[in-house]
Order: sequence, then C-alpha cells, then structure tokens
Amino acid sequence: MKTDLASLDYGSLQAFVKENGLPEYRAQQIFRWISRGVFSFDEMTDISKPLRETLSEKAYLPVLTTEKKLISSDGTVKYLFTLSDGEHIETVLMNYEHGNSVCISSQVGCRMNCAFCASSLRGLKRCLTAGEMLAQVAAVNKEYGVSSVVVMGIGEPMDNYENLLVFLENLSDPRGLAMSLRHVSVSTCGIVPKINELAKKKMQLTLSVSLHAPDDETRNRIMPVNRKWNIETLISACRHYAEETKRRISFEYTLIKDVNDTPKHAEALAKLLHGMLAHVNLIPVNYVSERGFYPSSPESVRSFYDILQSRGVTVTVRRTLGSDINAACGQLRHKTESD
Ligand code: SAH
Repeated sequence: MKTDLASLDYGSLQAFVKENGLPEYRAQQIFRWISRGVFSFDEMTDISKPLRETLSEKAYLPVLTTEKKLISSDGTVKYLFTLSDGEHIETVLMNYEHGNSVCISSQVGCRMNCAFCASSLRGLKRCLTAGEMLAQVAAVNKEYGVSSVVVMGIGEPMDNYENLLVFLENLSDPRGLAMSLRHVSVSTCGIVPKINELAKKKMQLTLSVSLHAPDDETRNRIMPVNRKWNIETLISACRHYAEETKRRISFEYTLIKDVNDTPKHAEALAKLLHGMLAHVNLIPVNYVSERGFYPSSPESVRSFYDILQSRGVTVTVRRTLGSDINAACGQLRHKTESD
C-alpha cells in the first residue's frame, strides 16, 4: 500500500523518510512542496529524479484537477475540483478588505441532511483526507494568496474529526503554510461530543456553530442533527467551549422566510445567547430548488437584526457573495452531477 504523504503530520512524515533510509531534510523538502500546492513528485525540483521515482513507487499525493473555475462579478472565485477517484468538491475564494479567505470542503457530500442545504442531496460519499483539505488551501494560495481559511464548504468537519485535526496541524505548521489558527474558522451543525473534545485542545481557531433556530421545534424541522443533540445540550457545550478557549463563538443563522425569521424567533435567540461570548451572523438562505426554502425579505432581515442588537447581541448581516456563480453550499457540485 502506498502512503499518502500529504495526510501525514510532520512527525509521521519524518518517520516515513527515516524508514526509507533518507536523511531528515527530505521530510522538510517534501512538506514544503506539499504546502506550496504541488500534486506530483516530479514538481519537487530540489529532489533528484531517481529519488522522485522511488518516492512515487512508495507514496502518492492527492491530486486536485480543476474541472471548472467560475469568477463572479464580485470577485469571488469558485473551483470545482475533481479528486483522484473522480469525486467532486467545491472550494471558494472570497475577497475581503482584510485579505483573501478560502472556504474549503471537508467531505464529499454530507450526511447531516439540513433541510435547506444542497450538500447532502446525494448523501455522504466519503470523508476527505487531511491532504485533500490542505491541497485546497495550497492550490488557491498558489494562485491568489490566502490569508484566512474557513472550513465551511461541503461536508460536516466534525464528522471527519481525526482528519480535520491533522489538517489543522499541518496548515499551521511553521515549516509549511504557517497559518495562524486565529485566521481559521471551523463550522459545525452541532456535533456536541466533538465540540467538547475540541474545547479540551484550547485551539485559537474560531468555532462557528450553525444554529439557524432558537427553539427545538423549529430546529428539528430544518436540522435533523437537533434530534440527537438539542439546543440546550448544544448551547451548554458552546458556553463551555467559550469558557475553556476564551474564544468568541460565531453563530450562523440563515434566515428562511416564514420558518425562523419572525420577531418571536429573534427574541428567543437573544434570550438563548444572553451573557455569552458570542457573535451572530445573519444570512438570508440561498434558494436551492430541490429544497424549496425562500430567503426572508429585506424588511424581516432588518427587524431581526434590530431586535438582536437592541437586546445586546453582537450581530452582523453577511453579504451574499458569488450568488451569480452558484457559490453557495454544494450547489455547483450538485448541478454538475445532475447535468
Ligand atoms: N456542516 C457545517 C459546515 C458546512 S455548511 C455546518 O453545518 O456548519 C456551511 C454553512 O452554510 C452552514 O452554516 C450551513 O447551515 C449553511 N448553509 C447551507 N445551505 C445553505 C443555504 N442554502 N443558504 C444559506 N446557508 C446555507
């Protein structure tokens, strides 16, 4: 069996190099090339040809082939990548004033089945390897430069927890991309045991929680995960996480017309988050035809925002980026595979 070198943490890469009778600095060279976004040993020009051949007999690297690349009028770039086994994932580059942010996928498909989301329309195919997650960042970084990463694309990162941890370690390793975890966000629909495990690690990353409803009745309707870990369980894990890490939690709240966007929901949300180190991001839902949920009107968004703000909740309304290129949440992959 060949070894996937991009999915090893640095210590394991060192062990691989040693087992193959190579000097330690080879691990450093390989690690650096992977972080620079190369997909084959042949591109590692400071490694001799015979050694590159030996490496490719024993090991491999993930390959991301750009199937489509769409550029939005607002500058958002969306990649549809094909993986070595023919599966597709999406990666999105967003331009903000403070720099480029890349949104990566963590799984091929998803099994969480949120009612408004396109990513789980075909279920979960497989988890991405740590190397495939890193390769998305490295590829976009190579082309545009990237200053922050959000794990908010296709998939549920906490449902791919072990690989996520290796990815985060490699992403922040000073010998590679050296990205500070302060510039990384990981978004979850609320897998409570993993939130608790992550809290113990006291990482500096931003935990983003897709809440989307302040009460179990509404949340059960749109997020099946809530039947396993309800709002009370989730919020107490979030409070614990914020206390342990001293990091503010970011709550995502997608506003869906007539489902979760009434003043009553806003009041309940303010009450739920009272006194917590938290920030709320409001975003009108992106319409997905198979799902049939419509975005709230600008007036409802405004009044939802005003209520939260008047109750002392830190809140922003997120701009919708790249809507002209199907940039939202699994829409492009789904569309491509349905065509
Ligand atoms: N599984 C993780 C991360 C991927 S989804 C999570 O649930 O957080 C990234 C974000 O996009 C989540 O907040 C998700 O609820 C939201 N989302 C999914 N489909 C959407 C849609 N159609 N419109 C707006 N937001 C959506």
